[in-house]
Amino acid sequence: MNTLTREFSMTINGKAVTTEQTVPVLNPANETVIAQVPKASQQDLNNAVKAARAAFTAWSAVSIEERASKLEAFSDAIIQQREELANLFTAEMGRPINGGFSSYMEIDSACHWCKVIARYRLPREIIEDNESHTIERYYTPLGVAGLIVPWNFPVLLAMWKIAPALLAGNTIVVKPSPYTPLTTLRIGEIARDIFPAGVFNVVTGENELGQWMTEHPDINKISFTGSTATGKKVLQSAAVNLKRVTLELGGNDAAIVLEDADPKEVVPKLFWAAFSNTAQICVATKRLYVHEKIYDEFLDEFKQYTKNIPIGDGMNPDTLIGPVQNKMQYEKVKALIEDAKSTGTNIVCGGTVEDKTGYFIPITIVDNPPEDARVVTEEAFGPVLPVIKYSNYDEVITKANNTDYGLAGSVWGKDLNLARSIAERLETGTVWINEAHILLPNVPFGGHKQSGIGVENSIEGLKEYTNTKTIMIKKK
Ligand code: NAD
Repeated sequence: MNTLTREFSMTINGKAVTTEQTVPVLNPANETVIAQVPKASQQDLNNAVKAARAAFTAWSAVSIEERASKLEAFSDAIIQQREELANLFTAEMGRPINGGFSSYMEIDSACHWCKVIARYRLPREIIEDNESHTIERYYTPLGVAGLIVPWNFPVLLAMWKIAPALLAGNTIVVKPSPYTPLTTLRIGEIARDIFPAGVFNVVTGENELGQWMTEHPDINKISFTGSTATGKKVLQSAAVNLKRVTLELGGNDAAIVLEDADPKEVVPKLFWAAFSNTAQICVATKRLYVHEKIYDEFLDEFKQYTKNIPIGDGMNPDTLIGPVQNKMQYEKVKALIEDAKSTGTNIVCGGTVEDKTGYFIPITIVDNPPEDARVVTEEAFGPVLPVIKYSNYDEVITKANNTDYGLAGSVWGKDLNLARSIAERLETGTVWINEAHILLPNVPFGGHKQSGIGVENSIEGLKEYTNTKTIMIKKK
């Protein structure tokens, strides 16, 4: 897709807002600027927060059924624009338009999430009800929620925040990543016709805008998805007015392949566990531990499988893996590959990045690097994967846990009792057995250790947009 002819505007108080200064948005497949988006000033942010604050009183007072019906209408309206949004998404994000992990999937999943979350209701609990006392506990919205989103799943991860924040009665200011703002801005336009003015605001700009949000005295909650490094800054700035925070941060997920696993069966699944979305998934398999008894056969299978995967421009209907989303990430992944090469580690696939237009990196598999290699210890967030040999289960559990991250992990093999006992010992928020990155709206998702604070999804995720409130009535 070449330069887009339409103008993109922020949504503030139900109206389109543009700015004189703009931020360019690139198509990562060809590095051309496809659009310019508004660059919000602090005043623009103040206007959005003021509008959200003003709308809060009425929005929090309408029934949850009414808020849910608006969310359902929102989901239906997005689906009606599905084709345009999926194409826009591929243009800014690079994700293939077709295939299992496609741009259509992003839009469809976001709408599905919105509908499922809209069906949740916050409980009112009677803790005690006797002759002398009634004690009731319920949940109240927090106020204005600032929702900060990364570039790897810009629409779905925004919806993970938008739906529960609004259902609980908060008003919102959404900030997409500067790399992928277009689809979110379009969704903001759709929201203008559905939600009362001020309830749903979208602002765009550079990273400083995120920081202004976290420091803003009239934002009550920040729900942030992004890197652990930025998450730490968010937590610090949020202290200014004791904002509530949910932090969904980085990961360095280990997959452990047991000695009884059948390489032919598990290799295709593990390939996609690692490389879907060009490996730019927080819960992608980023370290792959394989038992020594099957290591050689497994690595051969993996190499063979990798050969047949079409990599290219996401607009090409045959492409299954697109470019890395942005230059910064592209340079980071290239540096990890160069580092692995410089230490003499065997690279069994890929490893050479062609000097051509677009942020394309071949699937690169690093054969048994040492545990302290950068490619093992750092979150690559791109198509380079260390495959590491191990000989006993205690050893591999120790290695898998030897990281500050604790997002997710997986175990693969036929002995489900063994797999389960390993899963219980992994220090992560989620462990899958014989599958990977299955995320569902009714299942809480969150990181342990430095992978985050709090959870998203499920009733637990909804409660993160509320205060708990108790009313005690003394009867006698
Ligand atoms: P990032 O931390 O660079 O940026 C995330 C968002 O924060 C962007 O919108 C950015 O503009 C904004 N931001 C930047 N500086 C800020 C600041 N000082 N204060 C407030 N906001 C600021 O992350 P990214 O590169 O966009 O995303 C990749 C990272 O996100 C990876 O580490 C990945 O693992 C993680 N991630 C985690 C999850 C999860 O659910 N745990 C999901 C997806 C991605």
